[in-house]
Amino acid sequence: MKMYSKQTLTSPLRAMYKSGRFVHSYIITGAKGVGKKTAALYTAQALLCSDVKDGIPCGVCRECRRIEANTHPDCIRVEKSKRSYSVDDMRHIVTDAYTSPNDCDRKVYLVTDCGGWSDAAQAAMLKVTEDPPDPVYFVFTGEDLTTFLPTLISRSVTIGITEADREGCMEYLRDTYPDRSEDEMMRPAAAFGGNIGRCAQYMDGSEELLDIVERVRRTSAALSVSDEYTVAVVLSGIKDRDVFKGLLGMLTAVIRDAAAAKAGDGRGISCDPNASKLAGFSYGRLMRIYDCLAAGMRLCGTNCNLESLSAMLAGQLCS
Ligand SMILES: [Zn+2]
Repeated sequence: MKMYSKQTLTSPLRAMYKSGRFVHSYIITGAKGVGKKTAALYTAQALLCSDVKDGIPCGVCRECRRIEANTHPDCIRVEKSKRSYSVDDMRHIVTDAYTSPNDCDRKVYLVTDCGGWSDAAQAAMLKVTEDPPDPVYFVFTGEDLTTFLPTLISRSVTIGITEADREGCMEYLRDTYPDRSEDEMMRPAAAFGGNIGRCAQYMDGSEELLDIVERVRRTSAALSVSDEYTVAVVLSGIKDRDVFKGLLGMLTAVIRDAAAAKAGDGRGISCDPNASKLAGFSYGRLMRIYDCLAAGMRLCGTNCNLESLSAMLAGQLCS
């Protein structure tokens, strides 16, 4: 298993190996598709690898390979009995935690995708995370820290996985889609800000994502010539609030690239062909567009009408 852009993850692991003091509970947070599960497996490898160096798992020993193949008896992926973890699911782990590991000196419980679990389910874990048996480690994942009780957070190392930087993302795409051109990969890498999961969905031909990326391209093209009408038409074609917000987020990235290109940072230019056109705008204008998009993203979180929001944004973006 290869971790792309793994800095955030490796530094705490490295620090623990260096100090010899290991925290028994980890909370990994990040947006959907950003690679939390991979990060959780990587953490398990770092804890169980038989040839770990400086906190970095070797990736090839028997332990590492079995973790990746989901066959390691001491890397336990906790199952949900309902849509989210129940008190009983947690009680089951607690009981299991007091039995010895099978093959290793340690055992790791992966409690992934914790969103929606009840306080009661978490509370069932509090005692065992406060005073865990020596060999026992827990890795929790969720979209953000609000998923977790403060008491659980306080006894855990929290690791926020941010979107991979664009280069890490491109590296992933090159490895995974060796027969595709650089240009084909550039588009999702730019549009999804390096979110590897979303890029993969796009490369695999997700209709929804192809549509969004196409809309981003049309909006940025229209924006570069201040064509308010087209911006309004393209935006108002979106009926889903989250999709709308996602599109505004991608446009924000294009504006960021335009500003970078303007500042002479060549990396920005390649991503969206319209970014270099938008770089012709003044910094003041780019910042106004940026603020306007940010305000639009906030409004998506309220129950405002998307149709009127589209018209309003088109007006503001092109003025
Ligand atoms: Zn290993």
